[in-house]
Amino acid sequence: MSAATASPAESPAKPRKQDGGKASALESSYETALRKACESAVSKQFGEQDLSLVDARGSVLHAASEGDDDDAPAESVRLFRLLLLACFRSRASDLHIEPKSDKAIVRIRIDGVMVTLVDDLPIEVFRRVIGVVRVLCQFDQSVKAEVLDGHFNVTVKGRRVDYRVSLTPAIHGMKLVLRVLDPANAPSRLHELGMIPWMFDKLRSTCNRDAALVLACGPTGSGKTTTLYSCLREIDVEQRNAITIEDPVEYQIEGATQIPIDSKQGHTFGGLLRSILRQDPDVILVGEIRDAETANVAMQAAMTGHLVFSTVHARDTIGSIFRLLDLGVEPYLVANALDVIIAQRLVRMLCPTCRKQVQPTLAQQLKLGKSIDGLSALYEPIGCAYCFDTGYYGRRGIFELLEMTDPLRDVVLKRPTMQQIRDVLRNGLFTSLQGYGFQLVANGITSFEEVDRVAGADA
Ligand SMILES: [Zn+2]
Repeated sequence: MSAATASPAESPAKPRKQDGGKASALESSYETALRKACESAVSKQFGEQDLSLVDARGSVLHAASEGDDDDAPAESVRLFRLLLLACFRSRASDLHIEPKSDKAIVRIRIDGVMVTLVDDLPIEVFRRVIGVVRVLCQFDQSVKAEVLDGHFNVTVKGRRVDYRVSLTPAIHGMKLVLRVLDPANAPSRLHELGMIPWMFDKLRSTCNRDAALVLACGPTGSGKTTTLYSCLREIDVEQRNAITIEDPVEYQIEGATQIPIDSKQGHTFGGLLRSILRQDPDVILVGEIRDAETANVAMQAAMTGHLVFSTVHARDTIGSIFRLLDLGVEPYLVANALDVIIAQRLVRMLCPTCRKQVQPTLAQQLKLGKSIDGLSALYEPIGCAYCFDTGYYGRRGIFELLEMTDPLRDVVLKRPTMQQIRDVLRNGLFTSLQGYGFQLVANGITSFEEVDRVAGADA
């Protein structure tokens, strides 16, 4: 991970031969901007010529190092490869190309935040890129103005990356969104999530129990699914029958039976969960509990000898208890079936090459004071080429873990208030999301603003 690893073979593009107007048009500012994005990255194990484009049916349409013809179709493939390379190099999770009245804008999502790469892509060039994507996704060429979903993949140096494609008609033409599904960014092991030791120990020991219910909560994109996948990876799925019900299945877990929800077929989490209980499962992951039926079946399963993982839509761990009660689950079920609730958010980590040390303001000291005493310095984001001027590089989780203890079960049984639950938690190990985040601020890993942004309202 050092800037010195840049390979000399990948120095900035040599000037392309100029034959005719077409080639010189491709030397334009948008290509320069894309090249610059590719060059500012640290990791450069491969170039765009190493990308093999594979269509939705698995046929290699454009093999790696394919000829560099100057005819129009090959040019659009070359540009598309350059766009994909820019995504690789910048660690982007999504690529958006949106037509405006006379130009198209290319943006990527890095660490959850949109960054503009190119703001002057000619519309006719964008149309040709869409043509390449349509062929890769095997879309019916006659279908023009319609929402289209598809996929294709790229193989590069023996590794495969999948792309989920969405084409949507917008006022100035089709908007293209690519989601990058790179197994290299896929769910990691539990110990790699960076949880503080007592939380990690609690979660891992729960994963080794025969029966329990573990819930994760947080908004979309907060990494809760990644955490649950990491829990599954702690389990010996050779000796235990693990089944997942997901909407959709994004990453494969070796040894587990993964079932995608098909809502067109009328499948629901609750209905599928009931039927998979007849498949003799030991471990069950249910994508989300969003109705009383799913909640009740999941809780009964946990109480009849299954290890169950799921997510609920709630801001924090205490909110999850109320969410279940609001769904109409009986308090005795919530009190007795639940074991561990994890709330989480992702915070961006400060770019190590450009972060700047500053003194905390009085307001910051007051807020931090609840978690950290006497902090004399913290760090702010600045922005450099390495971090695409965002000031941040990579993300990690902040966590809140609630364990259902006997005193807590007693309170939940009696239809509690929020304050009653807080009072019980105060007597045990409990760190709020914000408190967890402030520890990272104190260690210079993230900024005060970042924790305030993702966990600010938290008391
Ligand atoms: Zn930086």
